[in-house]
Parts: sequence; C-alpha cells; structure tokens
Amino acid sequence: MKPKVAFFDFASCEGCQLAVLNCEDAFLDILNLVDIVEFREAMSETAPRFDVAFIEGSIHREIDVQRLQGIRARSSVLVAMGACACIGNVQARSNFIAPAENFKRVYGEADRNLVQSDPEFWPLWAHTRVRAVKEIVSVDYELRGCPIVPEEFVHLVKALVVGSIPSFPANAVCVECKMAENECVFDQGETCMGQVTYGGCKAICVTHGYRCDGCRGFLPQANRVAHQAVLREKGLSDAQIEHRYRLFCSAQFVGRENRR
Ligand code: SF4
Ligand code: SF4
Ligand code: SF4
Repeated sequence: MKPKVAFFDFASCEGCQLAVLNCEDAFLDILNLVDIVEFREAMSETAPRFDVAFIEGSIHREIDVQRLQGIRARSSVLVAMGACACIGNVQARSNFIAPAENFKRVYGEADRNLVQSDPEFWPLWAHTRVRAVKEIVSVDYELRGCPIVPEEFVHLVKALVVGSIPSFPANAVCVECKMAENECVFDQGETCMGQVTYGGCKAICVTHGYRCDGCRGFLPQANRVAHQAVLREKGLSDAQIEHRYRLFCSAQFVGRENRR
C-alpha cells in the first residue's frame, strides 16, 4: 500500500508548498509512490491519519500548538518543511518586540481597539511567541531553506518510500560556494553568513550575484564567535551583526553566541 502523505501550513507564505508543486516531473513520479491525502494548496479532502506529515510554517498561538500536537499524534513521521517550520524564520524576530507594540506595528491603533472590544476575536491574534516546530513536537526530518530545495524534498520522499535513511549535507554553504567556483563576496567588500550556515542549496544566492543571508539555519559546529569577529573586522557594528544573525535565525540566536 502506498504511504499516506499530508501537508499542513501554519504561519508561512506557502512558498514551500508551492516549491513542492513545482517539482514538475518529479512530482508526478511522487504521485505514483504516495497517496497525498491532505494538501490545502491543491485539494479539499482531509484524512484522519497519515504516514508522513509535512509541516510548513512557524507556530505562534496556543490554537496552533494544539493543532500541531494533534497532527503529530496522527502521523508516524513528521517533517518540518522550510525555514519557518525549522527555525522560526523572519517572523521570529517579533519575539524581541513587546506583543502590544508588535500588534500596533502590524495593524495600527484603530484595529487594536476593535479587536479588544470583541473578546471572541481575541484568541485569533493573541500570539505568544514564534516557535519552530521542534520546540513543540518531535521532528523526524527537516527540509531547510526559504524556500526548500525541491531536490531535497524528492530525495526525502523517495527515501521514506523505500525505507532508507535520507541524508542531507552537514557542511557550510561555503563548501558548495567553492564547488560552484564563485568569487567570495568577502573579496568584494561584502559580508556573508555562508560560513555558519547549513549547506544544501548549492550557494544559490551567491551564484546569482548576492550573498548568503543564512536562510538554512546555523550549522551547529560552525564557530560563530570567530565569524562574528570577522564581520567586526569588516566594519559591521554589533547591532548590524545581531541584525544579520537574527534575520532568519532569531529563534536560534537569542543573544548567547554559539547557542544552538
Ligand atoms: S520557509 Fe520561506 S518560502 Fe517556505 S513558507 Fe516560510 S517564508 Fe515561505
Ligand atoms: S561568498 Fe559566502 S558562501 Fe561563498 S565562500 Fe564566501 S563566505 Fe562562503
Ligand atoms: S545561499 Fe544562504 S540565503 Fe541563499 S538559499 Fe543558501 S542558505 Fe539560503
């Protein structure tokens, strides 16, 4: 029997689900290997249980926590899909802003009064703290990046179908950047997060003329203290360094260097 696979989204742009749909020929192959039983981007059906649940998005509110725990209980394997689910992504920066100020910045003063006048609406916006999926439930596999790399998704699904263990790179982006024969942006007066960031994206941003901003999350063994010293040498202030570190990884970087 084909494994039952389901996709769920929380706080996200749904770009990772689109990346799945954009796997094109490989996606058609995958449809032959698995039964997709829930996928809001593409179908309206729902299912009581599944073998693999893909979770897109970060977790903000108590109702999200309960929903996520329910999905975990109904699935044998759970995969965090994309930077939002794996590391909290840019939205986790709001963890460092007071909730009231956060709300005002997003919705303005007028809407705040409206929401507070309607207690039934309150739980819809009362988010506590932006969290990665693994902060709430156990995660079996992570597909990193913003968005995910389609080839890694296909690799993971095929491995799960045949019962093998998927493997993902545990090297820094710099390794793939060198393999792509890119000129290092540090040699052009720019700075980069590639030294401390999980590879697997083939250094796509550098290859296309930008720098790495670290969307795949911190590589645990990377020396962040040394990296920050290099950024300081290149003229970045402590505030600028913190900004760069928190862009995608606020949920991982909480002011204590080298904390995972
Ligand atoms: S990881 Fe990026 S592309 Fe994927 S859902 Fe989050 S914001 Fe969108
Ligand atoms: S450009 Fe960035 S990713 Fe590439 S080698 Fe330099 S530091 Fe590493
Ligand atoms: S180069 Fe850096 S920012 Fe770009 S996709 Fe890879 S990890 Fe993400």
